[in-house]
Order: sequence, then C-alpha cells, then structure tokens
Amino acid sequence: MDHIVYEPYSKNTSLIIQKYEDNILDGFIPTKTDIDSIQITQERHKQIPFSFEVTQDMVDTLACAESLDQYYTDIEPVYTNTKIIGTRVYKGKCVICMSSRYTKIKLKCSHIFHRKCIQQWSNWKQTCPTCQDPL
Ligand SMILES: [Zn+2]
Ligand SMILES: [Zn+2]
Repeated sequence: MDHIVYEPYSKNTSLIIQKYEDNILDGFIPTKTDIDSIQITQERHKQIPFSFEVTQDMVDTLACAESLDQYYTDIEPVYTNTKIIGTRVYKGKCVICMSSRYTKIKLKCSHIFHRKCIQQWSNWKQTCPTCQDPL
C-alpha cells in the first residue's frame, strides 16, 4: 500500500527567514510556538510504498528545524572577538542551549552561560541574552 508523504514546500523557508530576520538581529531567538504560528503551505506530495505514517507535525517540525539551522549557520557575525568576562561555575543552566552540563561562566550580571554559547551569541549582540546588560 502506498502512502502519501508531504514534502516541505520551499516557500516555508523564506517565510520563516523573512519573519524572524529582524528578531534574530535584535537578539531574539524564535521559539517553537512562534514557528508554529507561521502558516505552513503544502503543495507537493509524493506516494511512497513503505508502511509507516509520517505525520504532518513531523514534516513541519523537520522543515522548520532544518531551515533555521541553515539560517543560523549562514548568518554573518556582526561583531567579532568580544572578550567575555566571567567567573567559572558548574552549577546552573545555560539558557542559550538549555543544558546544565559542563562548566559554565557567570557574567558580572550574575547570569550563567557556557563560554562557547555566549561567545557565539556575542557575534550578534553584545548584551546579556537574559537581562540586556552589556557583556
Ligand atoms: Zn550553553
Ligand atoms: Zn544578565
């Protein structure tokens, strides 16, 4: 039995990029809810002879995740070589990657991030992602 599998419609990618370009440049990372609010257009589909169901949700989520990944990879750094100053800590959660593993640094505003995460962030914006204090 053939199954109909929807392919992500490439217009979705440009919609997402368009809608969030300004937000990302302003230092806001879109959440899944934001992405879900975009009207997804499905125009192409194909029939495939295998026997598990690919739900619309899965297709949409993958399409959004891939396009955003690509966008974050391609984005031009605004600043380079900002020196991030902070004290080494182990406790706490990095809100950029939502992980509490590994050593983190505590900024002077007392917010905690992985050095790598905050360093990448500083390429876009030189303020704390949580409180907007200068880095
Ligand atoms: Zn992190
Ligand atoms: Zn802060």
